Amino acid sequence: MPHTVTLIPGDGTGPEITTATRRVLEATGIEFEWDVRQAGSEMLEKQGTVLPDDVLESIKRTKVGLKGPITTPVGRGQRSANVTLRKKLDLYANLRPAKTYPGLRSRYENIDLVIVRENTEDLYAGIEFQRGTSHQEELLELIERTTGQKLDPHSALSIKYISVLATRRIVRFAFDYARTNDRRKVTIVHKANIMRLSDGLFLATAHEVAKEYPDIQHEDRIVDNMCMQLVQKPEMYDVLVLPNLYGDIISDLSAGLIGGLGVAPGANIGSQYAVFEPVHGSAPKYAGQNKVNPMAMMFSGVMMLRHLGEKEAAVRLEKALMQVIAEGKYVTYDLKPRPDDPTAVGTSQVADAVIERLRRL
Ligand code: NAD
Repeated sequence: MPHTVTLIPGDGTGPEITTATRRVLEATGIEFEWDVRQAGSEMLEKQGTVLPDDVLESIKRTKVGLKGPITTPVGRGQRSANVTLRKKLDLYANLRPAKTYPGLRSRYENIDLVIVRENTEDLYAGIEFQRGTSHQEELLELIERTTGQKLDPHSALSIKYISVLATRRIVRFAFDYARTNDRRKVTIVHKANIMRLSDGLFLATAHEVAKEYPDIQHEDRIVDNMCMQLVQKPEMYDVLVLPNLYGDIISDLSAGLIGGLGVAPGANIGSQYAVFEPVHGSAPKYAGQNKVNPMAMMFSGVMMLRHLGEKEAAVRLEKALMQVIAEGKYVTYDLKPRPDDPTAVGTSQVADAVIERLRRL
């Protein structure tokens, strides 16, 4: 039986890396029935929305999605299609592994981190109040009445929202992940010294949940200190669990530690559905140039194979990717010593090289 998967090419460089990834996944010998659904800037022009309903309906049917990046214009227009997708399907856990492979140009060796980012709340909840609106004025009045602080009326507000329920389930997800994947430690990341109520609630709830997992070590770190620690001694860390915004930032930082966004995969997982996508965005300046690295999406494909129970194919595809990286010949500009290296190959040539290795494994 083929696996039915919703395939969302996205926009910018998304369609190119999606085609490359689809080719290598099919070359594993596993059969897929792709339900291709369009989302992104083209759909905004055609249908007035970056995330048409049929995309969500398809994932509700197939339960699994593989997604290219989608552009979000800064500070205007529609809400991010990515954030909306995660919220509407309640994909509450964003899993982002960061692992060094021989051949990657990184300052470090032996990094094997897993970032577990809460995906539905925090400053990403989209609860914002625009300057000069009646709601903003009401909120400013409420703040003055309850805290005594008179805020500048020429201001905008974004609410940081953290709940016990969402914290419990993301922290449980992190500990369950640690347990099933033979991980030794979970680090809870927060800024509870300053945001004593919201991050304080995250921290206290996380420590409570940790008691249910006596076999897994746990500790906590303040997010700024965490950044420094990750740069100084990343090999000390294992699984990190974080509220949404810190998770977003720390996962890009971790991608930088292992050799860049071109090799950083991700998964958005809920209790019913899962959508796999690279950490990076649509890199629109390179769209249509057959230039960017498809490996982050291919590694996301490895995660998807595992999720589908195709462990052997996942191991083979990961090995093939590792061989291409280690050889260093058929890799894109970002994995070369210098970005202008004339021997860098394009997106589709990386797929050719991975398929070639897969045939020999
Ligand atoms: P980006 O990740 O698209 O690109 C930043 C830079 O990283 C690029 O200019 C490029 O130099 C490099 N890069 C990224 N992916 C690469 C790859 N596969 N191979 C080689 N180099 C790569 O980040 P951005 O420029 O901040 O965002 C562009 C758009 O993507 C924005 O609209 C943003 O909102 C969106 N975005 C989408 C997602 C998603 O779909 N999940 C995630 C992040 C950003």
